[in-house]
Amino acid sequence: MPAVTPVEPKSLPAVADASGAVRPVDEVGRAISSFEGAGFPVRRPFPGTLDQTRTDPFLMMDQMGPVVYAPGKALGAPDHPHRGFETVTYLIDGEMEHRDSYGGGGVIRGGDTQWMTAGSGLVHSEMPTEKMMREGGLLHGVQIWVNLPRADKRVEPRYQDLTGDQLTLFRNEAGDAIVRLIAGDLGGQHGPGHTHTPIVIAHATLEPGAHLALDWPREFNALVYALSGAGRVGGRQGRELASGQVAALGAGDVLLVDANADVAEPLEVLLLGGKPIREPIVSYGPFVMNTKAEIIEAMDDFEAGKMGSIPPR
Ligand code: MN
Repeated sequence: MPAVTPVEPKSLPAVADASGAVRPVDEVGRAISSFEGAGFPVRRPFPGTLDQTRTDPFLMMDQMGPVVYAPGKALGAPDHPHRGFETVTYLIDGEMEHRDSYGGGGVIRGGDTQWMTAGSGLVHSEMPTEKMMREGGLLHGVQIWVNLPRADKRVEPRYQDLTGDQLTLFRNEAGDAIVRLIAGDLGGQHGPGHTHTPIVIAHATLEPGAHLALDWPREFNALVYALSGAGRVGGRQGRELASGQVAALGAGDVLLVDANADVAEPLEVLLLGGKPIREPIVSYGPFVMNTKAEIIEAMDDFEAGKMGSIPPR
């Protein structure tokens, strides 16, 4: 798993194991396998598995692949609109190219994140690069939908291109777990992504037997999704977590993850947390608003061409 992986993890800043009230595991869900866009395989840990109050402000998460495409067979999501939230695409392996009706976009490769604030509305495409299309290859990543509060649902669309080398990396005390911070504050470290509400998005790799204990803001929800491997969340009183499972944690101060010791592969987890927005959510396909009237308005605006087209006029 490439992502951004330092040759010498011990050279990273060390964050001491946190102590305090361990956040228990309240619920475990198993990702639903389906297809997105033109038909690429995804595993979706939520929605549909966990109570939505536990995932707020996150609306959806898809693990894309890992899938090995044959030459000419790579698939993407051609032009489609969004309004009212943000899509965060973090690639672990492979290449994708995003384009949007505001002129945003670019190529992302393993380790990179594209953070798109759809806000008032745009049209974008999420496609394999020409090289990926021609040669095929391994594609693996995640896309997370982050809700916007009512006050920000119509902000001007914006693109953040967070290349892998911009991520904030740190390690645990023992040096057998690394954390790549995409956004938010964790362990006294600060991630590069600009967010509209307080959230944390991080990708951690735990070598077999590793122990990760992180201070987690009390007012944040907390989710741990296993991309691959197996381990335990919430310590002794917690629950086992294997590839494709998501754990929603209860109240407390410390998020605990332990990787199984008697295995060959590391545990790869995505850590998500945030302060719940707690506003009504009405969503329909690519639009996420607060009321049904706003959804109808979004559909009308899209059909009238008000969200633009690619390339931008
Ligand atoms: Mn999209």
